[in-house]
Amino acid sequence: MKKPRNTIAKRKILELINESPSAVSSQDIHAGVGTVCDRATVYRVLGRLVDEGEVHKIIDLDGVIRYAPCDQCDDHHHHHDHIHFSCEKCNALTCLEEVVPEFTLPKNYKAHSVNFTVSGICEKCA
Ligand SMILES: [Zn+2]
Ligand SMILES: [Zn+2]
Ligand SMILES: [Zn+2]
Repeated sequence: MKKPRNTIAKRKILELINESPSAVSSQDIHAGVGTVCDRATVYRVLGRLVDEGEVHKIIDLDGVIRYAPCDQCDDHHHHHDHIHFSCEKCNALTCLEEVVPEFTLPKNYKAHSVNFTVSGICEKCA
């Protein structure tokens, strides 16, 4: 009877990530799910959600992994190269979906993913 429980955990975790205005860490998620599941399950479900293209990982300025929802990803690829904004005041890490950095790599370099985080003061703290 392991499966239904995991399904409940998955739904709850996805809901937390989707409803949060900024990216959440596994610690936030563990606190948010309460008694629904333990920490190991939180990690396992998060790994699966990333594999399935439901959420993407962002490393914040302290090196902590946080999670934000994906828009059009699937279980084969994550399709996004938007930037992330890290607020120095409220510590929120936000996806700026519409902001895509433009850069040119030196010859013979091929980018597979972009991890671009801008830090400063967000609109709520301005
Ligand atoms: Zn994605
Ligand atoms: Zn802020
Ligand atoms: Zn993002």
